[in-house]
Amino acid sequence: MKADTKLVHAGRGGQLDHGIVNTPVYHASTILFDSVADMDASNRDKSVRRMTYGRRGTPTLWALQDAFAELHGAHGALPCPSGVAALTTAFLAFLRAGDHALIADNVYGPTRGLARGLLARLGVATTFYDPGAGAAIEALIRPETRVIFLETPGSITLEVPDVPAIAAVARARGVHTILDNTWATPLFCKPLALGVDVVVESGTKFIAGHSDTNVGLIAATEAAWPTLLQIHGDTGQTLGPDDAYAALRGLRSLGVRLKAHEAAGMTLATWFAARPETRRVLYPALPGDAGHALWRRDFTGASGLFSVILEPCSRAALATMIDGLAHFGLGYSYGGFESLILPSNPRPDRTAKTWDEPGQLVRVFAGLEDPSDLIADLDAGLARLAKARAAGL
Ligand SMILES: *Cc1c(COP(=O)(O)O)cnc(C)c1O
Repeated sequence: MKADTKLVHAGRGGQLDHGIVNTPVYHASTILFDSVADMDASNRDKSVRRMTYGRRGTPTLWALQDAFAELHGAHGALPCPSGVAALTTAFLAFLRAGDHALIADNVYGPTRGLARGLLARLGVATTFYDPGAGAAIEALIRPETRVIFLETPGSITLEVPDVPAIAAVARARGVHTILDNTWATPLFCKPLALGVDVVVESGTKFIAGHSDTNVGLIAATEAAWPTLLQIHGDTGQTLGPDDAYAALRGLRSLGVRLKAHEAAGMTLATWFAARPETRRVLYPALPGDAGHALWRRDFTGASGLFSVILEPCSRAALATMIDGLAHFGLGYSYGGFESLILPSNPRPDRTAKTWDEPGQLVRVFAGLEDPSDLIADLDAGLARLAKARAAGL
């Protein structure tokens, strides 16, 4: 089955669904057993999937898990109430006091916060590594290193790491790899096939796809599965049934939406690259991008989220551009139907290698509007910026 066909079928057809196309929303905490013998049997035999308690799984959650696992070619998948909860679960599953984790320097901000806060408090040391390290990451592995964490491409700066090279080193040294695949989704990148052990995604973004739901998903290999399942259960991770339903509904149209985001993103990124106000466009789908060759090798598409480094200007001048945009919302997140823009500065976060690119960085998400409207809007925005600069702002 091709990916678009899988998106339609994955996770559907549970026996309890009575032929309903979409797995219904099961609101459940208490599940009643027929008898003591029935309750005992459910505790004894875990090979049969059945409801025992709402938090432990319902058909709505199973439909989402099964679909995500199938799309990633994973042994199994688990739902969490947000992407950050999924990241936390994956870290806690494979790290304990005294361990060391290698975390890419270009990760999503809250991932860095998790390492510096919770993991440090639990006695886990972290080294942030240059995402361009490739196989040279081996030199950073210590006897107590248990996890290498990757994100591809990285948040805000969009560097593409050499995932197979890092995963191969990790596997040879008995170190677990966890990868944040939110930008690509299983449609555009399958990290387990590149040698990674655990994939984490914020389903909030492209999978739910409508800017209305927080969802986290974890997919894992058979070897990583038991530990992950245990910690997921022990920490009480689950997902509300309505949010699971929203994610499933979004998943069915992921293919067409991603293709539209990809086309619009390419149009906007190419337009920015030709503008004199632009110093650099950070988008691995562009042939001139430093990560382009690795992106072509490891991905099958780009999801319309990229960054632009504009010539240096004041924040006030940049604000005249952003505040006046009609079609780009100013907000966190991406992956919904609407275009977004966000000023950001990677400099204070980088520790492995300083980020010394001058200029103002803005992250752009190409939504499902007509790209010609988006370009007219950005064009007027750059004109406001030029006017503000000319006025000495
Ligand atoms: C948004 C995001 C997350 C966190 O997802 P939430 O659902 O908001 O918790 C994690 N990783 C990346 C790369 C993200 O963009």
